[in-house]
Amino acid sequence: MKNNRIALKLGFIIIMVFLIVLVFLGLSIDRLFTSFYFERMRTENEELGSHFAVMAQSDSTSGEMMKTFAEFSNVSILNVNANSEVILHSGTHDSSDRNMIRSSDLDRILAGETVNFLYSEPSGVRYFVSGQPIYEKDIATSALYVMSSTKKMEQSLQAVRKPLILSGIGAFLLALGITWIIAQYLSRPLLVMQQATRKIAAGELETRLDMKSNDELGSLAQAINDLAADLQRYRDTRQEFFANISHELRTPITYLEGYSQVLRQELYDTAEEKNKYLEIIHDEALRLQHLVEDLFDLAKMEEGKIDLELDWVNMSELTQQVVRKAELKSIEKGLSLKYTENGTMKKIRADKKRMEQIILNLLENAVRYTEKGEINVSLTYTSSAFLFVVEDSGIGIPEDEIPYIFERFYRVEKSRSRQFGGTGLGLSIVKKLVELQGGKIKVTSQAGQGTRFEIEFIRQSSR
Ligand code: ADP
Repeated sequence: MKNNRIALKLGFIIIMVFLIVLVFLGLSIDRLFTSFYFERMRTENEELGSHFAVMAQSDSTSGEMMKTFAEFSNVSILNVNANSEVILHSGTHDSSDRNMIRSSDLDRILAGETVNFLYSEPSGVRYFVSGQPIYEKDIATSALYVMSSTKKMEQSLQAVRKPLILSGIGAFLLALGITWIIAQYLSRPLLVMQQATRKIAAGELETRLDMKSNDELGSLAQAINDLAADLQRYRDTRQEFFANISHELRTPITYLEGYSQVLRQELYDTAEEKNKYLEIIHDEALRLQHLVEDLFDLAKMEEGKIDLELDWVNMSELTQQVVRKAELKSIEKGLSLKYTENGTMKKIRADKKRMEQIILNLLENAVRYTEKGEINVSLTYTSSAFLFVVEDSGIGIPEDEIPYIFERFYRVEKSRSRQFGGTGLGLSIVKKLVELQGGKIKVTSQAGQGTRFEIEFIRQSSR
């Protein structure tokens, strides 16, 4: 029941609104009928009064005839003269029963007016009363009161009210049923969503909602599904991330442990061999240092704690400096590293150190994954954008792996960058740094042919 609170609230509101409308409508219809009957009976009584007055004025009508006619018409009559004396009466009212005769009314009637009113007896019985003048030689000599009980009208009204109340009850029950169905229809998906979110919160991230409606409930369900999928992806990548970190740390540590042991126990024959082991230890220590630095950078970026030192940077100068740094390794490998510029060079607003890190990372990758041929670095300035491109003729990246190369620790072949000395974090750092500075990075590659990385910054205002 507790879970259905929303259905109860909703149902209660609908029913209350319906009840208010129903009561208001019922009362209006009842009033309409009451005033219709009332008006009709009042007119009927007045017409009857005129009829009796005409009869009383006729010489051929006797008092007895009037009484019989009154009895036949189901009314009482009272004929009162100018001295307020009852000269004729019929029906339940006798001559002493004159409470309804007011002297002001009598005066008006004798002055030639007709008086109509509703009279309630102390017993509660009500009458329509019509008082009319009776003329003798053009002078109103007495007043004739005709009284008809409202009983008939009340019976007719009762007869109308009964079906009215019954149909009101029927409509209420019908509304109750429909409200219950609507409340269930609206609240059930909410309950299902509540249960699903509780499951997701408890760690069952595979939970999905199967709701296809196009309304707000449908889009809420879709949002919950997206959230669950994001959480699931986040959990999986986090687990993978920690597994990768421990793997990445374990490998160089094993090397360091093994080769330092070899050196300590002097398990080498020549000084050359000793130097080779020392070099391995040095390389692995460097790799550990890089890995720790990269991890630290990534952690800062993911927490959004990295502060960019923005300044106007001469990209031409910066790129040429980085090209010179990378040249050493490319010459060692027999690769030719070319640099070109297109357009009029302008400074752009960026963090110089981070820009250098981006360019160096892409250049080192290009040198690392290219065995022969050339590497082309170019800068292009157009009126709206600044474009940095590194293109190599190296081993390339298989098409189906391209979407993943910016993920942390992703390597095309798992042994690839270990053999080449990378950490698998470089490109994810590059992508984050580019995006932090408002740029976009794109890659196109063909296995065995080469790879092209393109970074674009939209120029706002430049120097
Ligand atoms: P790493 O430090 O291992 O190079 P990156 O994040 O920089 O890690 O790169 C991810 C993977 O993408 C690399 O392991 C490599 O397989 C592939 N890759 C990156 N740049 C190139 C390139 N220029 N040519 C071919 N493969 C590349």
